[in-house]
Amino acid sequence: MHNLLEKAYQTNDLTKEEIMYLLENITPEDREVLYSYALKTKQAYYGDKVYLRGLIEFSNICRQDCLYCGIRASNAKVERYRLTPEEILGCCDQGYELGYRTFVLQSGEDLWFTEEILVDLLQVIKKRYPEIAITLSIGQRGVKTYQSLFGAGADRFLMRHETASKELYEKLHPTMRFDDRRDCLSALKEIGYQVGAGFMVGLPGQKPADLAEDLRYLMELRPDMIGIGPFIPHSETPLGAEKGGTIEDTLVMVALARLLIPGSLMPATTALGTLHPLGREFAFKAGANVVMPIITPPSVRKKYALYENKICGDDHPEDCRYCIEGRIQAAGFEVDLGRGDSWQYSFLTAKRFTSKKRIYSRND
Ligand code: SAH
Repeated sequence: MHNLLEKAYQTNDLTKEEIMYLLENITPEDREVLYSYALKTKQAYYGDKVYLRGLIEFSNICRQDCLYCGIRASNAKVERYRLTPEEILGCCDQGYELGYRTFVLQSGEDLWFTEEILVDLLQVIKKRYPEIAITLSIGQRGVKTYQSLFGAGADRFLMRHETASKELYEKLHPTMRFDDRRDCLSALKEIGYQVGAGFMVGLPGQKPADLAEDLRYLMELRPDMIGIGPFIPHSETPLGAEKGGTIEDTLVMVALARLLIPGSLMPATTALGTLHPLGREFAFKAGANVVMPIITPPSVRKKYALYENKICGDDHPEDCRYCIEGRIQAAGFEVDLGRGDSWQYSFLTAKRFTSKKRIYSRND
């Protein structure tokens, strides 16, 4: 086992079979070794910085019906809400005041937010705050819409692939197609977004082979960001009586993702913080380097319940801002309020810039 961990650390590469072997045989001691390698790898790329993103959950209205999700279209018990573009802008103002320089706009698949409305909103935000980064997490749309949103100022796009097992994906997503989601991710990358993929751990029926496939898919896609969180059952969904993912299994996947896609930005997810009071701190020590404090207005935050008992439901944006800062520092890391672009994005931009300079000097 130690050879395998060492190999992952030294080469950033494992085969599907090696990952499966690791997942099936890892002991608590091995896990500590894995986490320490993941931490060292993160430090080599990003130092001890943890980037903060202000998360605005702007609508819980959704046309999709994902079996695990508390805001799925069939859940008639959810009290639905939709912030107006003015209210979203107000969240950005407040978030900017609190020091955030990335806003993540996340929602169910709510088509009230047409391409036109989103383009207007993005332009207004970018005009007011040109130096910030905007991340969208609004699900599947057409390529043309993704292009317009990018043109209007969206910098990044989060869309977890959820699971790389086609069979499991199809069981969990009666209204969506496996290939469509992957096509969206490829299109987003092609357009020039910094792209985030990711998956849930502990889904009903998920096997080590499926999790190994998740990592292999990420190694192929090379996303800028990777979100990994435990599945947490929601009682008003068809999976309400299922078992959820564990903190240990999730941390192992976070650490392996850090070793295999070493330059990625990886959030310590709210779902991990929900499973254990120190879940996010454990994730920082296992390779995560981003956290997304919620800046959704207190009046609606409890309604954005993808799963139950989600943390911070009664908090105000300023509570989350300083609570997280304290946690990051107590865990031995440094808060970074900058835009925090991904390593590969910064690297490519720097390369483009240098080659441009070279052309200029040739012409001089
Ligand atoms: N509509 C957007 C945003 C989805 S919500 C989109 O399609 O991308 C963000 C993420 O929450 C999902 O991608 C999913 O991985 C996660 N999620 C949803 N329900 C969950 C649950 N019950 N437990 C844990 N994570 C969940």
